[in-house]
Amino acid sequence: MPDSDILIIGGGIAGVSTAFHLAEHGRSVALLERGEIASEASGQNMGGLGGAGWGNAPDLLAYLTMGSLEIFKRLQIDLGHDMEFRLSGGLTGIHTEDQYNFIRDRVLSLKSNGFEGELLTPREARAIEPEANPDLLGYMYAPKRGQADPVKSTQAFANAARNAGATINTGHEVLSIEIRADGTYAVQTNHGEYNSETLVIAAGAWCGPVGQMLGLRIPIVPVRGQMWATESLPPRIFHDISSAESSFTWSSDNGSDDTTPPELTHKGDQRFTRHLYGRQRKNGEIIFGGDRQDLGYDFGIDATGIEVNRGHASEVVPLVADLPIARTWSGLMPFSVDGSPIIGKIPLRDNLHIVSGLASAGFGKGPMAGKLAADYIHTSHMPHVLAESDPARCVTEAE
Ligand SMILES: Cc1cc2nc3c(=O)[nH]c(=O)nc-3n(C[C@H](O)[C@H](O)[C@H](O)COP(=O)(O)OP(=O)(O)OC[C@H]3O[C@@H](n4cnc5c(N)ncnc54)[C@H](O)[C@@H]3O)c2cc1C
Repeated sequence: MPDSDILIIGGGIAGVSTAFHLAEHGRSVALLERGEIASEASGQNMGGLGGAGWGNAPDLLAYLTMGSLEIFKRLQIDLGHDMEFRLSGGLTGIHTEDQYNFIRDRVLSLKSNGFEGELLTPREARAIEPEANPDLLGYMYAPKRGQADPVKSTQAFANAARNAGATINTGHEVLSIEIRADGTYAVQTNHGEYNSETLVIAAGAWCGPVGQMLGLRIPIVPVRGQMWATESLPPRIFHDISSAESSFTWSSDNGSDDTTPPELTHKGDQRFTRHLYGRQRKNGEIIFGGDRQDLGYDFGIDATGIEVNRGHASEVVPLVADLPIARTWSGLMPFSVDGSPIIGKIPLRDNLHIVSGLASAGFGKGPMAGKLAADYIHTSHMPHVLAESDPARCVTEAE
């Protein structure tokens, strides 16, 4: 069976970006994906990306969002992969006086720290997004938000990785992992054994079970997100669309405890807040989603949640109230229990790395997360911004 220096488990955006950047460094790298490329969260997400800018003192969030934006530009514009990427900008609807005051303070704070964001009147918002609700109190405009097609983009990273020399094996499920006496890894799959010196876990919401194969406890919780789409329409919505409701709620109570990640929409079965994100795809479908619920590995669609989300979307873009729902889907997001990414070396085993915990924003953060992980593996030096995501803070021996 083929041997490589580095073996990556998981063909989502985190894994394929890590493979691409390692291959560009000239490293021998193979990736094992049990399904197809982008068959889980990386193919099921809304496709929103970007952030608020680099700021005066870029932290990990700025690196992951803005660095990824540059990598999306590089793959589509410089390397010629069609990802339906565009820097669309984002609009966040403000529904109440309290939300307005919160967003006004947030915009002031962003600007004073070198980030970008504007508070718009409904009239100003409707000049750039004609379907925006004129009856809301205002909108926050984020010029550095963008969008891309999740499946096409993730596949583009896999193709770029292959072009750079990586081996991408789909339909390869990792069943068990043995650490040999010399510290190398023997990984058993449904297609036989793969050997490597370095192992990278990029298994998204399944990092926990993969960690168990190594006797480790990786605190990643699978969180269900669900989405719905209208039939295709001519272009009507041009920005990423969201609402200030959830960020306002989470600013006073992020809902977390020792076992529950922050910023979910539900506490157990009870709705805690409404979260919203959406856009119109190039094929004309208008898509929205937002719920984040910890239900274990249950993917089933909750029709009530979809209706709540549709009502929320209609408050920001009234035209969707009258459009029938053509399809729904769901996926599992990899939330770390403390809410921060887990990217870097796991010191409890030799040459073991992880790229995960990208939660609800991994499509937009995954490309740079993979690059930083690849740089760390290639140079054996931790990029300084990864101090914030150090796995040593939370990955432990399994009990
Ligand atoms: C409905 C929804 C909407 C979202 N919207 C957005 C958005 O607008 N913007 C944004 O930035 N993010 C969004 N996200 C979050 C984003 O999709 C995730 O954070 C990101 O895709 C995680 O990427 P990943 O590579 O870590 O995990 P995944 O994409 O889940 O990839 C992990 C891969 O590992 C494979 N795997 C697992 N176990 C094994 C094994 N034993 N052997 C082999 N392979 C294995 C899986 O098959 C899977 O393909 C959304 C997510 C959902 C579900």
